[in-house]
Amino acid sequence: MDRETFETDVLLVGAGPAALACAYRLAKLFASAGEKREITVIEKGAEVGQHILSGAVMDPRGFDELFDRKWREEGCPVEAPVVSEAVYFLTERGKVRFPFLPPTLRNHGCFVVTLSHVVRWMKEKVEALGVNVFEGFPGREILWDEAGRRVEGVRTVDRGVSRDGQPRESFTPGTDLRAKVTVFAEGTRGSLTKELVSRLDLAGPNPQIYGTGIKEVWEVPAGRVQPGEVFHTAGWPLDSSHYGGGWIYGLPENRISIGFVPALDSRDPRFDPWQAAQAWKTHPWLRSILEGGKVLKMGAKTVPEGGFWSQPRLYGDGFVIAGDAGSFLNAPRLKGIHTAVKSGILAAEAVFEALRANRCDAEALASYARRYEESWLYEELRGVRNVRQAFQSGFFLGALRAGAMLLAGGRLLLDRVPVKADASHMEKLAERAESAARPAGPPPDGVLTFDKLTGVYHAGAMHEENQPSHLLVADTEICRTRCKEEYGNPCESFCPAKVYEMVDDAASSPPRRLQINHSNCVHCKTCDIMDPYGIITWTVPSDAGGPKYVGM
Ligand code: SF4
Repeated sequence: MDRETFETDVLLVGAGPAALACAYRLAKLFASAGEKREITVIEKGAEVGQHILSGAVMDPRGFDELFDRKWREEGCPVEAPVVSEAVYFLTERGKVRFPFLPPTLRNHGCFVVTLSHVVRWMKEKVEALGVNVFEGFPGREILWDEAGRRVEGVRTVDRGVSRDGQPRESFTPGTDLRAKVTVFAEGTRGSLTKELVSRLDLAGPNPQIYGTGIKEVWEVPAGRVQPGEVFHTAGWPLDSSHYGGGWIYGLPENRISIGFVPALDSRDPRFDPWQAAQAWKTHPWLRSILEGGKVLKMGAKTVPEGGFWSQPRLYGDGFVIAGDAGSFLNAPRLKGIHTAVKSGILAAEAVFEALRANRCDAEALASYARRYEESWLYEELRGVRNVRQAFQSGFFLGALRAGAMLLAGGRLLLDRVPVKADASHMEKLAERAESAARPAGPPPDGVLTFDKLTGVYHAGAMHEENQPSHLLVADTEICRTRCKEEYGNPCESFCPAKVYEMVDDAASSPPRRLQINHSNCVHCKTCDIMDPYGIITWTVPSDAGGPKYVGM
C-alpha cells in the first residue's frame, strides 16, 4: 500500500495544553536561535478543542511562565477571575460548609476558564509562530525502528474503511508522520501512550487511577451564581467509602459549569458515574440553583488522579511524554492545566537541546526528567504524592490521613502509599450482599436529570456508522457468559454514553450478545479502565468523529 510520508523535526500528538505549550516554547526557542525547524501537532478531533473537557479553574502559573505574564493582554479567553470559594460536605438533604478551606482547594488568584476556548487560542498562537496544526488526524499506531525500541513517529488512521474492514471507494491510507522526536501528549488514557508504556515497560511504581467526570454547562436564572464563584462538594450521593465530589463554577451570562467526578475504584460492579452525577443534581441545594434553568452542553471524560507515583518514565529513544499522559495532573488541587503547560515547557527545553545536539536518544532526552526534578512542578506534585491515595481507605479516614500528610510534607509512615488498579477493586455479584439488580438512580425527568442518550446529544457525539468499531472487545464470548454471571455486565453501567448493550439474540446460547453502539462514544475512556477482564481496548476512530466540546 502506498502511503504518504511527512517528515517533521518534532511531532506532538494531541492538541491539548501540554502539546500546544510545548510547541509554543519550542518555536520560540528555535526562533531565538535563528533556526527554522518543522514542528507539527496532530489532533484527533475535527477541530482543536472538540475533544477536550475540563472544569475548569486554572492556576495561572504555567501561562505566566509561557507567555511572560502577557497571556491576558494577548487575548487568552477567561470566563472570570475567582472571586469567592467554599467547600461543602453534602448529606442527602443538607450541607455543611467546611470551616476552613483545605490548602489544596484554595483558588485565590486563579481563573475560571473554558478549556476548549483556551486551546483554540493557543492554536492561533502556535500557528502564528509557524507550527503546523493538523486537525482531524487521529494517530493510529506508533512507528518503531526495526528493533522495535525507538519511536520514529506516528501513522494516522486509514480512512474510508467499511464496517467489515474492507476499503471503500473513498479509501485513503493513513500518513506516516516521521519525526526526530515525538511528544506524546494525548491526554487521559491515550491509546498510543498506553502502547508505548506497555511495550517499553515505562509504568511508574503505582498503576494509574482514575475518576470519570460528568460535566454540564447550564444557563440559570440571573443571580444564582456569580461569575467567578467557586463551590466544591464532597459526600452525598457517594457513600463514605467512595472518593469523589462535585463542582459549581460561575460563568458570565448566567451560565454555570457543574460537574461530578466519582473515582472508578468502586467495589460495586453496578456503579454508574452518570447516574451518580444525575443523583447529585437532585440534592436540594443543587436543585435550587438549577431550577428554572436549562442545560446547554454535557460531556464526560476520565481524570488521571494517580499523580506523582503513577508517572511513567517520561522519555526514551525518540520520545517524551507530557501532560495528563505523563500523569502530571494534581488531583488534590483538581487542577491539571498549569501542570500540563509546565510539563510542555520542560519537554520543549529538553527537545530543543537534543535537536541542536543532533541526538534524540534516551540519554539526551533524559534532561526532560532532570529539568522536571529541579522544577516547581516536581515540588508541587511530590508534596501531594500520597493525598489522593489516602482516600482509598474511605472518605473520613482518608481526609484525616491526607491532612496529616500535607502537614508532614506528603508522607505518612510510608513514602509511597501503594494503590491497586481501579478495575481490580470490582467485586463479583456473588461476593456482594446487595441484590444483583442495577440501582435505578433518579428517573430522568428531562429537566433536571437526563438519560444517557440525551447526554450523547448534548455532547454532540457522532461517528460515521460504516466504519469498523473503534472499541475493540477481544472476546465477546466472555461478555455473554462469564461477565453476565460474575459481574452482571458492568459495561452497561459504567459507560456514560450507552455504547455497550446486551441484547437478546435467539441464535446464540445463552440467547444474548453484546451490541456496541460505537457512534455514541464520547471518548471518555472509562471502558478501557473499568472492564474487569481487561478485554476492552479503546482506539481512535477513523473518521475524526467523537464529541464536540467547544464551549465546554
Ligand atoms: Fe467512554 Fe468507552 Fe463509553 Fe466511549 S465506549 S463513551 S470511551 S465508556
